[in-house]
Amino acid sequence: MYSTKYVKPNSTSEALEAIKSLSDGKFLAGGMTLIPTLKQRLASPDGLVDISGCKLESISDEGETIKIGAMSRHVNVADSAVVKKAIPALASLAEGIGDRQVRNRGTLGGSVANNDPSACYPSAVLALKATVHTNNRSIAADDFFTGMFETALEEDEIIESISFSKPAKANYVKFPNPASRYAMVGVFVAQFGDGVRVAVTGAGEGGVFRHEEMETALSGNYSPDALSSLNIASDGLISDLHASAEYRANLIKEMTKRAVV
Ligand SMILES: Cc1cc2nc3c(=O)[nH]c(=O)nc-3n(C[C@H](O)[C@H](O)[C@H](O)COP(=O)(O)OP(=O)(O)OC[C@H]3O[C@@H](n4cnc5c(N)ncnc54)[C@H](O)[C@@H]3O)c2cc1C
Repeated sequence: MYSTKYVKPNSTSEALEAIKSLSDGKFLAGGMTLIPTLKQRLASPDGLVDISGCKLESISDEGETIKIGAMSRHVNVADSAVVKKAIPALASLAEGIGDRQVRNRGTLGGSVANNDPSACYPSAVLALKATVHTNNRSIAADDFFTGMFETALEEDEIIESISFSKPAKANYVKFPNPASRYAMVGVFVAQFGDGVRVAVTGAGEGGVFRHEEMETALSGNYSPDALSSLNIASDGLISDLHASAEYRANLIKEMTKRAVV
């Protein structure tokens, strides 16, 4: 056992003050990743700043985008009438995360800040040209994910909300790990007036990434046939006990074909 402080502020500004008063504090969202990390002694912060009282749960239609508060739980996104109407693929992605317990605790902000290489949300953020709003700036999705478990967030920077652009069409298809439901490979495809974006999770050694070859092919012809002649390279893909890099390369193509049906 080791002791750690716990505080639960009522606003983002109070949360920022609280984290600055700690030498190695951590924001606590739903605790789905952070608490197991503490239990395994992979981190031992001197304090936890619980942001569940900071009023970051709202979901709103902003015209061209849907804005979702960082503390929205996966179940809130899955059940949201606003999300279901504007970006049904995002609601269905949230519905497919983990199990009921994980969906009731896990949050959008925690998932995106953590940038697990097998998490589902980072692919939606990248494919849907999202903007991550923090306490002091707005970061475009293409600049946000910087490597496995790495993001552009500064120390003590808090995600307040994320704006997702509304696509003409979108779909998320994953090949789930049967034990955790994390993506062995997940592909989010989104069609916009100026082209198609394809983001792949679960497969890249550097975490989530856009697949430019498939984006070009689908921007010309939004159908599975457009992918038939493509050879998906396995360079830079994860090889682990669940699947080899070559198997993941094959899954990338298959999941994308299913996504554009
Ligand atoms: C059994 C299991 C199965 C899962 N299956 C899936 C799955 O199928 N697909 C999937 O995508 N995910 C899956 N997850 C991950 C889960 O959905 C959570 O999103 C993820 O674990 C993060 O948890 P959390 O939101 O509770 O954040 P926490 O664990 O509380 O925090 C995670 C990290 O993010 C930081 N953080 C949290 N919120 C913010 C914020 N607003 N601003 C800045 N930093 C912040 C914290 O300081 C911490 O470092 C699974 C998790 C488990 C335990």
